[in-house]
Amino acid sequence: ARRKLSSIRKTDALTQDGTPIELLANIELPQDAANVLESGAVGVGLFRSEFLFLGRDSLPSEDEQFAAYREVAEATNGAPVTVRTMDLGADKNPRWLNHGAAENPALGLTGVRLCLAEPLMFRAQLRALLRATVYGKIRILFPMINGLGELKQALAQLEYAKKELREENIPFADKVEVGAMIEIPSAALVVGSFVKYVDFLSIGTNDLIQYTLAVDRNDDSVSHLYDPVHPAVLKLISHTIKTATKAGVQVSVCGEMAGDERLTRLLLGMGLRRFSMHPANLLAVKQNVLNSHLDILAPQVARILRSEDPDRIADLLTQLNAGPD
Ligand code: PEP
Ligand code: MG
Repeated sequence: ARRKLSSIRKTDALTQDGTPIELLANIELPQDAANVLESGAVGVGLFRSEFLFLGRDSLPSEDEQFAAYREVAEATNGAPVTVRTMDLGADKNPRWLNHGAAENPALGLTGVRLCLAEPLMFRAQLRALLRATVYGKIRILFPMINGLGELKQALAQLEYAKKELREENIPFADKVEVGAMIEIPSAALVVGSFVKYVDFLSIGTNDLIQYTLAVDRNDDSVSHLYDPVHPAVLKLISHTIKTATKAGVQVSVCGEMAGDERLTRLLLGMGLRRFSMHPANLLAVKQNVLNSHLDILAPQVARILRSEDPDRIADLLTQLNAGPD
């Protein structure tokens, strides 16, 4: 029987076989952090920090950013807060950024590429984030990484920012956890090279689907082709989860798939133990976690992952979700 969702707000997210699952919130503004714990989440899995940079005429200063990150860190009472460094470009172009119009913005100067092209801007954000680590469990996540070369460059900027703060006697948590988003197919394919450089990985399925299937995530004329359970997408997600798990590196999904209750069992069966989503979806996903037996799911999901036929995948997914609870 389906319990009233609000009654499970405080219930621990354990599967029927007792495996703990971490359910985290995606937020866009510092003030969203205040409601995170209330929503039933155990922390912030994705703070899209670029929203601090949009809708204004100038770049926010390091101090302004520091105040925002500190607010988020303090609002969550020591729960982890994963802050993604600014993911601008593509569909998010602030007025103060003068990089001209790109022919093909989704393939242009976005995410960490833009940050590496503007190292002073990037380091101001990294310094602000490091300073905020004194006030809570801030973790740093780099978006749109396409391979180990870019990951190393982003990490070098972080080391540079740490060195500056040390020289200025400004305190920060030296052991701040660092992660990479896996949202470009190339990154998923070489994720094995990332694991010794990062503390965690976060799969951005929104972009991963877009770039794997060559389907603009915002273009209605091709939305019928935007398929989260396309076998190619599932292979990339599965490979990422398996590689991270084997290496002992935490992995989450922070794209829309994590908050889609029809996909909870599929992701659990692929080995996912951390989901980050819009808080409004959290209790429906938790309900599915509470109803799921990992032992029963595993062979069913293995069958889904072996198929490359979308019709068969759809049938198997229906069976998976209709299974015992
Ligand atoms: C994603 O791409 O899945 C993601 C979480 O980032 P965004 O939706 O902000 O691009
Ligand atoms: Mg993305």
